[in-house]
Order: sequence, then C-alpha cells, then structure tokens
Amino acid sequence: MQKTKELYAGKAKSVYLTDDPDTLLLEFRDDTSAFDGKKVEQLENKGAVNNQFNAFIMQKLADAGIATHFVERLDAQRCLVRRLDMVPLECVVRNRAAGSLCRRLGVEEGVELNPPTFELFLKDDELGDPMVNDSHAETFGWSNSQQIAEMKKQTFAVNEVLKKLFADAGMILVDYKLEFGLYRGEILLGDEFSPDGCRIWDADTLEKMDKDRFRQGLGSVIEFYREVGKRLGIEFENC
Ligand code: ADP
Ligand code: UDP
Repeated sequence: MQKTKELYAGKAKSVYLTDDPDTLLLEFRDDTSAFDGKKVEQLENKGAVNNQFNAFIMQKLADAGIATHFVERLDAQRCLVRRLDMVPLECVVRNRAAGSLCRRLGVEEGVELNPPTFELFLKDDELGDPMVNDSHAETFGWSNSQQIAEMKKQTFAVNEVLKKLFADAGMILVDYKLEFGLYRGEILLGDEFSPDGCRIWDADTLEKMDKDRFRQGLGSVIEFYREVGKRLGIEFENC
C-alpha cells in the first residue's frame, strides 16, 4: 500500500491518503510538542518508538475484543488505519490524580481515584483544549449523547485491559487520552496510544516514564519510552 497525498500534518503524525478510500496511512514523526504546541522539539527515534508501541497496544486491545481503527504496522514509522470521521473531543480517563485535575480541583498528585474519572476536552489548540461536557458537545454538534455514552463505555473497557497490562509489568497507568471517530456510522477508537498521550509511573519509585519528562524538562524522554515498552515485552526494531 503506497501513501499518496498528504491529508493532514498534525503536531506528531502525518496522515496520508492511500489507494483505498477507507484506509489512511499514519506516519509517526520525531516532532514532540507540549502545552498545545507551544513547546516543540525533535526527539530522535520518537516516531519509530511510538509507532511500534502503538501497534503493540492496539493488538492487545484487539486481543481483548476491543475494535480499533488499526489495520497493520508497515515499517518503523508508519501504519495503516481505517479512515474515521474524527470526533473533535479528547476522552481522558484518570486512575490517579495528576496534571490538570490537580490544578483544577486542588487534589494532591498521586491520589487514587476510585472509580476512575472520565472527562471530555475540546480538541482545539488555540483555545488550549478546554474541558467541556456532553451538553456542550450536543449543543455545538461535536457529538451526541449516544456517541458519548459509547466513547465512555469503550474508554473504560480500554482502562480495564491497560491498567492490568501496565500493573503486571510494574507500572501504574495514571491517566491517558483517547480519540474516537465514526466508521460506517459507529464509534471506533482512533489515533494512538503511546507514552505521548498518557502518564505512566514506575510502581515502586513513582518515577515518571512518559511525556511529563518532556513537559517538565526531566530528560531521557525516549530512553524512558523504550523502558516502558521493554517492560511490556516490545522488541523495538530499526530504532
Ligand atoms: P494533532 O492533530 O493533535 O496535532 P497528530 O499529530 O497525532 O495530532 O495528528 C494525527 C491526526 O490524525 C489527529 O488530528 C487525529 O485526530 C487524526 N486521526 C487519527 N486517527 C485517524 C483516523 N483513523 N482517521 C482520520 N483521522 C485520524
Ligand atoms: N493529553 C494528551 N493530549 C492533550 C491533553 C492531554 O495526550 O492534548 C493526555 C496527557 O498526556 C495526560 C492526560 O491526557 O496523560 C490528562 O492530561 P491533563 O488533562 O492532566 O493535561 P496536562 O496537564 O497534561 O496538560
């Protein structure tokens, strides 16, 4: 499958059309951004590490009976996915308090959240991805209540699978962001799952092993992404 025209260049991935109208090619680049694109750097091998990480997680979800847009990994930095009509919302689940939840609600970082929370953010860098609710989504036509219920259900199903996967490998899945879209009228998980879009802490030391290393200038970002992958059993190739 050859990539054809570039459809969209996001902050971390480029999206290409293919000769099949139902299939897109995603290319994971080394560009790394934070704070809604205000901090941008190139981190060597990030694209290849995240592409392989994402392929591994998407396969684990498929094995657990959770359908996703993922078709196959092509090579180090590229994969094929089903073309979705993306819902412009980010679905965030939190198992522990961190990041914007602590800033918003004054909760101490690391507090266990039981049951885990589910939040919606509008995907809009210029507005700083504001938090929204299902009433906003319905009024402004970003989604509807049935689709939001389905995204919430699938997001929690993903949580059950991934929380255990990380726990069994000595890590805590603190929180993460998922994006969904419509495929033939049905909600389907899209985009990626990689350390760029989640928080992962070492279970014993609580050391940060995810994109917070980049956001907070802690260094060794890709070394930690690789370490997370290694603990999960990923054998990285060509990077
Ligand atoms: P951003 O747009 O946030 O900068 P990326 O650099 O990761 O993010 O760009 C990838 C883009 O591709 C995102 O806008 C994402 O919503 C979109 N996308 C992901 N999966 C699919 C898919 N299966 N079909 C269509 N678009 C997708
Ligand atoms: N997240 C993301 N992209 C975004 C916003 C958040 O991948 O545009 C992820 C982030 O990595 C974390 C979770 O969603 O795992 C919750 O992020 P939070 O709301 O705490 O925002 P932050 O403080 O990270 O900006």
